[in-house]
Amino acid sequence: MKLKYERPVVNKINAGMPDKYGMKVKTTALTQIDNIKISDLIAQYGSPVYVLSQKTIEQTFAQAKRAFTNRYPKVQFAWSYKTNYLDAVCQLYHQLGSWAEVVSGFEYRKALQNKVEGKHIIFNGPDKSRQDLKLAIENGSLIHIDHFDELYMLMELAETLSQKPKVAIRVNMNTGIYPQWDRFGFNYENGEAWNALNRIMLNGKMELVGLHTHIGTYILTPAAYGVAAAKLTELAVSLAKKYNHKIKYIDMGGGFASKNTLKGAYLSGADTCPTFDAYAEAITNAIINSEIAPADLPTLILETGRALIDDAGYLLGTVLANKRLADGRRSTIIDIGINMLFTSFWYEHEIYPAKETSVHTEDTTIYGPLCMNIDVIRPAVQFPLLQKDDQVVIKRIGAYNMTQWLQFITLRPNIVLIDNNGKTHIIRTAETNATFLQHERSPF
Ligand SMILES: *Cc1c(COP(=O)(O)O)cnc(C)c1O
Repeated sequence: MKLKYERPVVNKINAGMPDKYGMKVKTTALTQIDNIKISDLIAQYGSPVYVLSQKTIEQTFAQAKRAFTNRYPKVQFAWSYKTNYLDAVCQLYHQLGSWAEVVSGFEYRKALQNKVEGKHIIFNGPDKSRQDLKLAIENGSLIHIDHFDELYMLMELAETLSQKPKVAIRVNMNTGIYPQWDRFGFNYENGEAWNALNRIMLNGKMELVGLHTHIGTYILTPAAYGVAAAKLTELAVSLAKKYNHKIKYIDMGGGFASKNTLKGAYLSGADTCPTFDAYAEAITNAIINSEIAPADLPTLILETGRALIDDAGYLLGTVLANKRLADGRRSTIIDIGINMLFTSFWYEHEIYPAKETSVHTEDTTIYGPLCMNIDVIRPAVQFPLLQKDDQVVIKRIGAYNMTQWLQFITLRPNIVLIDNNGKTHIIRTAETNATFLQHERSPF
């Protein structure tokens, strides 16, 4: 076979940064997922294609669960729908014992469709309509109040309904993490959270069942969770003192980091990401060392999203072309755009060739296929010289990409799940032009 001609270039040797093992010299290939060849997956399901591994989902979940249940008697996970609300994914987490954590009427109804019992749905977020709240009250769901307007709407609704709303408040606080997420829930330090709790208790029309916080996302400091848990236990202790009221749960939200590397980070995420054990240690220490009596210890709820599913997701694609930019820099265009990789805005996603390549790498910009200047998957990565039609794999994309994706210029591709027996299943079919015909109307 005749080799493709590649114009030679003279490059300054750029060795890159050493990591803790020394200098990186070779890009490894990622040729298979759960023993299924990348080339077979693309041949069967097209390119690009998202792939999820049931095995990795289950292993990661087991690790997280073990970290908490080893340290605390009552632990409950609730799957964060917005992280990945494909029905197959949600149903799998529900099978593993997770409740549902939702932040909109759409997600709430999706949880019901996934057969989650009303009392096992946690309804978070600032946007709950009167209709949504009514439905949630009737189903006995756990309503986490975000602001006073919602609190007053609930008080009004409670007057007209036979069921007592089950509520918690979301609390925001200073945990030493900045910028502080103070736009959600009631503030701890300025007394607003305590004020909201007093209003709920004095109103008497609602059942105050828990306390909630979600301090942010991709939080690399487990100690921040210790601070947050300690502040929630303070509120629980105050409620017990003043009203002799015992809350049933403390919900620490989500936000654990995944092993992805943030843009501009000095060390790789795989090296800096705290373990589930580290988060569990910080949270459970704060709760068990509080003044809450042992017999009254609340259930600990976790709404972990990103850290549970990021590793289980892959995005497979194909090289469309190589180009030399005007300044001589190498660029590779692949068929994966930022429209299907929203997290490329903040992560340096690991990208691998799908077959063994030469050891020679070059500083390369990897572009997506969109006619849009910001469609850059990796601005600068040491990458081997792939040719047109060679395949690539982007790793660790299971969180948020399958919900925050944009339909822009190209269509959303198939999503495939590899089950524990190595069988593949399409869990969301690729969009086609017909998808659009279903929704569009033209007056012409
Ligand atoms: C997004 C969200 C989560 C999940 O956050 P991760 O960072 O993905 O773990 C949990 N709880 C609430 C309220 C959220 O908004």
